[in-house]
Amino acid sequence: MRRTALLPLVLLAASAFAQDPLTKYMYPLNKPLKTPKVIVDTTDIPSLAPWAAKAKQIVEEWYPYMTSMLATEDWKAPKEIRLVFKKKIDAPAWAAGNEITFSGEWLTAHPDDMGIVVHELTHILQSYPGIEGGIDRGWLVEGIADYIRWWRYEPESPRSRPDPAKAKYTDAYRTTAGFLAWTSAKYDRGLVMALDRAFRKRQDPVPEFKRLTGKDIDTLWAEYLATVK
Ligand SMILES: [Zn+2]
Repeated sequence: MRRTALLPLVLLAASAFAQDPLTKYMYPLNKPLKTPKVIVDTTDIPSLAPWAAKAKQIVEEWYPYMTSMLATEDWKAPKEIRLVFKKKIDAPAWAAGNEITFSGEWLTAHPDDMGIVVHELTHILQSYPGIEGGIDRGWLVEGIADYIRWWRYEPESPRSRPDPAKAKYTDAYRTTAGFLAWTSAKYDRGLVMALDRAFRKRQDPVPEFKRLTGKDIDTLWAEYLATVK
């Protein structure tokens, strides 16, 4: 009796879940990955050792969260992550493979820029293979890194709004990140994970906008710009 009474309820729950219109209001979360060993090298600029220790702490604490926000389910994670501090490089920081190189000059002038660690760590987690056909979506790679930094790690930080007369969604960094945040909140909070998953499969991620929202990227961008005027 109990069994027959339960069955229709289970089926009803399963079919409701399959078409659940509420899913788009939730961030999908993957299984978090364990932080690999983090190695710090400040031999070139020992004065940054305290900053480097904080950077290591951010990597150790945020790596599991960040992997849960991205499509890292089949990703071959590095065995260790290296944080290397140089007196001076031609950028505030960059990431290559499992290593982030920081500019001592930049960090000495901007010690509050801890969020740079999250941006660069996102690049390590991305490690995207190239898209089939050589399509360049570098602007979206940077947009995702800034989205994780500015909308998930430090969402309370003040930020400039894009100039509707000049801005394009391909501007990368915070402009693209703001667009991702707005589109996620309005249409589907699974957007960034879906874009990330497409990159990992060597697919062009741009069609994911249409698949998830029903609208193409140019239409969405026009809607977004109308909100920042
Ligand atoms: Zn970047």
